[in-house]
Amino acid sequence: MSGRPMALVTGAGRGIGRGIAIELARQGWHVAINYAGNAGAASECLGLVRKAGGEGTTIRADVASGEDRERLVAETLAIGGRIDLLVNNAGIAPRVRADILDAGEESFDHLMAVNLKGPYFLTQRVAREMVAQVERGAKGPLGAPRIVTITSISAYTASVNRGDYCVSKAGLAMMTKLFAARLAAHGILVYEVRPGVIETDMTAGVKEKYDRLIAEGAWPIGRWGYPEDIGRAVAAIARGDLPFSTGEVINVDGGFHLRTL
Ligand code: NAP
Repeated sequence: MSGRPMALVTGAGRGIGRGIAIELARQGWHVAINYAGNAGAASECLGLVRKAGGEGTTIRADVASGEDRERLVAETLAIGGRIDLLVNNAGIAPRVRADILDAGEESFDHLMAVNLKGPYFLTQRVAREMVAQVERGAKGPLGAPRIVTITSISAYTASVNRGDYCVSKAGLAMMTKLFAARLAAHGILVYEVRPGVIETDMTAGVKEKYDRLIAEGAWPIGRWGYPEDIGRAVAAIARGDLPFSTGEVINVDGGFHLRTL
């Protein structure tokens, strides 16, 4: 059993999830570093988590699989006996960007299973556990449990060449509201963190396009976002800095969501 607060971060081997794991580690968390298949990246993340002052455990599991989700939760609970923070971060872009008039069902089904159905039922599973923890008085060192879901500016921005991705993120935005409304009475707070364009493997293939858009002023804070930017927002929630907010959207997008005239 670990005396540290216990976080489960999905898709934490690389990119934004890794940034979140490192920022939690700076606060002393034990992070269950979930990943899909890249064991090398996950173990590199574990090294960085330890270097930052935290502890970690790597757990391979596909969030789209019910069996894997069950094992992921069981293995996380086996470490600390509690889950103080769930971060739904794992997500994929469509394999091929296809016009909404052409895009196929296979891509839609796969993307929805990973990006929406997986987090929905993982949150349900973990929320039940968190309610039970609260009822038996098993509080972590940082108080009541919390849930954070990483969505995207695609939750409200129409990109007609990746409609499935946009719909999955819009669905996650509603998921946050639903669990926030259901869990507040148990003292469990639920948040959506909505990143803008972040430099990771996911955006590596469209780097030149975004370099150009940034140069043209596509958002007010004229730079790429970095995994650390998202990690710091999640760390503020994890620390308990938003105690009278739930169902809240935290935009971490360089001001992309602002309308200007
Ligand atoms: P990334 O660099 O492609 O990393 C994705 C991570 O998710 C990897 O650790 C990967 O594991 C894991 N993963 C993928 N499918 C999984 C599955 N089925 N089960 C468990 N883990 C899985 O992506 P990212 O850019 O960091 O994106 C992370 C999240 O932020 C996603 O939800 C994405 O939609 C969202 N987001 C990204 C941006 C951006 O600009 N990058 C903007 C807004 C929102 P392996 O390493 O084992 O493959």
